[in-house]
Amino acid sequence: MREPILLTPGPLTTSLATKTAMLTDWGSWDSRFNELTASVCRDLLQIVNGGNSHVCVPQQGSGTFAVEAAIGNLVPPTGKLLVLVGGAYGKRMVQIAQYLHREVVVYETADDTPPSAEVVARRLENDPTISHVGLIHCETSTGILNPLAEIATVVRAAGRRLIVDAMSSFGALPIDVAALNIDALIASSNKCLEGVPGMGFVITNRDSLMASRGNSHSLALDLVAQYDYLQATGQWRFTPPTHVVAALRSALDQYLAEGGQ
Ligand SMILES: *Cc1c(COP(=O)(O)O)cnc(C)c1O
Repeated sequence: MREPILLTPGPLTTSLATKTAMLTDWGSWDSRFNELTASVCRDLLQIVNGGNSHVCVPQQGSGTFAVEAAIGNLVPPTGKLLVLVGGAYGKRMVQIAQYLHREVVVYETADDTPPSAEVVARRLENDPTISHVGLIHCETSTGILNPLAEIATVVRAAGRRLIVDAMSSFGALPIDVAALNIDALIASSNKCLEGVPGMGFVITNRDSLMASRGNSHSLALDLVAQYDYLQATGQWRFTPPTHVVAALRSALDQYLAEGGQ
């Protein structure tokens, strides 16, 4: 019997090599697995040019867990988030901020209309208490690609910080976190990189991550704690999705062999 082909944004149909990579069992404390984690993180950073300024923090769970971790860590309890909403994932980021009791304001556009950088600039000028801007790079629910570079430019000019959900663009479209001064960029294993579901990751500016110590509302989603522990031991803090990491390693190998992005 033939398996159905998944044409969804992710999880999607994976290659035989990616599936085969999950036939090995890994001990979560073993140095071989630690090397696997480190090499995956190195490549993820490299793909978006984050090697010097940024770090990669992996997070167990689906992409939403990583978005929630990023908001909960990087937006301090005294901060205020402006979310640019044009579909389901923008709305989800607003909902996350509300759950975490972070002050949140919304700039909403119609499903077929990307946000305007001029409007964002005006909103920031009119409200100096906005500390962070949240953007969905590609709004998967509508297919709209939002103007990341233009938004990043006005956010930087206003001296605020930018958090980008790049779940369905990471690996497929060019993103330069250093040049765009992106505070945090979030994606997961099972979208354009064509791994299997089970982990997300946050590519975050190292200084911003260090400055966020103590902000996290959640033990399991504390990115600083996860990063510190990885630095100190090479290990994830709690049981890692070992087979998912191995599959992502294989998917990245295939991605790089095919020429990357
Ligand atoms: C897939 C996706 C997410 C994460 O959704 P999960 O169901 O948690 O994997 C978040 N944002 C965007 C834009 C997505 O495409």
